[in-house]
Amino acid sequence: MQGPSSAARSPTPGETGRPGPAHPSASPDVWVGHFHGHRVEVPRGHGATMSFTFDDGPWPGSTSQVLALLAQHHVHAVFCLIGDQAQARPSLVRQEVAGGHELCDHSRDHDLLMGRKGQAYVDAEVSTGLAEVRGAAPKGTKVTFYRQPGGTWDPHVVRAMDDHDLDPLRWSDDPRDWSRPGSLTIVRRVVAKLHPGAVVLMHDGGGDRSESVEALRFLLDAVTAAGWVPVLAPHVHLSDKAAAKPQ
Ligand SMILES: [Zn+2]
Repeated sequence: MQGPSSAARSPTPGETGRPGPAHPSASPDVWVGHFHGHRVEVPRGHGATMSFTFDDGPWPGSTSQVLALLAQHHVHAVFCLIGDQAQARPSLVRQEVAGGHELCDHSRDHDLLMGRKGQAYVDAEVSTGLAEVRGAAPKGTKVTFYRQPGGTWDPHVVRAMDDHDLDPLRWSDDPRDWSRPGSLTIVRRVVAKLHPGAVVLMHDGGGDRSESVEALRFLLDAVTAAGWVPVLAPHVHLSDKAAAKPQ
């Protein structure tokens, strides 16, 4: 157990497994939880909305784990799918749609350098990705979001989105979970940037996503306990300048 509050300011060495009773030093506008024994403060949402989005799937294992967690919490999210992967694993795409989630085109193969390769190449990345996602989804599924790999919304990309009437899916809260900084760091980065209308960018694919899944398990409990309402990310049309601004 922690000692008296006078010792609580400086971090204790060897924090692993440290028991973490909620010490009532937090302001009333903060919800305090414990993740693997570490204290995590979450600003209270007072009913404000925020959104979860998951990129680079579908992916064996982690996509199903994310879907199960979202279902447990009755939370809907947007899945930004890489077209080639959607085509390879259509059953996961159908599970996403069946779960009430929304799909987003995240390009054909996630080429981070597509912008340097000209309009025709970018058009193909966007349109083939879209066709593959739509092809994997049940007939009639609406796919009207596009998210640019790496967030480089250059003029080629904007033009390709415009051609297909796609809305850019921006984000405001990027914990860089793909870099595997540890699940506690992912949790802390997400809650540090929570604000009304926040769009959280996490990953269910592209590699080992066990840290992301572990972080999400806590975050879903924590944000709802702190008074936030997770909703599907709202659509913002391309003509709205704010929509295409660099992240
Ligand atoms: Zn991505």
